[in-house]
Amino acid sequence: MGGGSSKKITNTTPARTPTTVIKPAPVPTAVPKTTQCLKPCYCPSCYDCTQPDVLTAAGSKYTVPRGLVAFGIQVDNAFAASNKIFDNWYTTFYGTSKDKLEDIIRNRFVPFPGDHLLSGGTFVLNLRDQKHIYTSPSINYASLEHVCPIDTMTIDGTSYDFQVVLQCKQNPADVQKLRSGKPNVCKYLPDADVQWRTDQRSSVVPISLLICAKKR
Ligand SMILES: [Zn+2]
Repeated sequence: MGGGSSKKITNTTPARTPTTVIKPAPVPTAVPKTTQCLKPCYCPSCYDCTQPDVLTAAGSKYTVPRGLVAFGIQVDNAFAASNKIFDNWYTTFYGTSKDKLEDIIRNRFVPFPGDHLLSGGTFVLNLRDQKHIYTSPSINYASLEHVCPIDTMTIDGTSYDFQVVLQCKQNPADVQKLRSGKPNVCKYLPDADVQWRTDQRSSVVPISLLICAKKR
């Protein structure tokens, strides 16, 4: 910086008419239109077709959620650092629904069914097994409709189907890998161990919100 002789005091508020900036909550939009994606993002502008379909985290493969727009979620930095979650934990996906998102994200970990939430409510999942958290290293398996319902939304007269999935870091300890029973769901990972579950508390940390939006 060139230090001029006439120093201007600039610690006052600029005499500009304040403009109200309205920051809307992220709304699913047509995927190719996104211009300000947070990395890593998997929409066509951020992750092109020449890039791999399968990636590895902590020695464990996961499928790329190709076409989905990603929004970063703030993690507890002290927890992330002391557990080295970005180096040593697997990457998995947790399909959910719009009504559960806020509770899960505020909780910092994916809750168990019956857990008390900061909102004062209880985390309810209509699954037979109430003792485990189910995830998958396959985006296709995690977005099956029984856990990840398709919602609809109309924006400017256009209707969209959308689903929400959380990309997570998952503690490798006590992950049970099960057969999916749906052999054609994922073309990249073997069906024999694509359904994961854990009974470990604080072991699934959401790091990104992934949104899949399609015009109806
Ligand atoms: Zn993107």
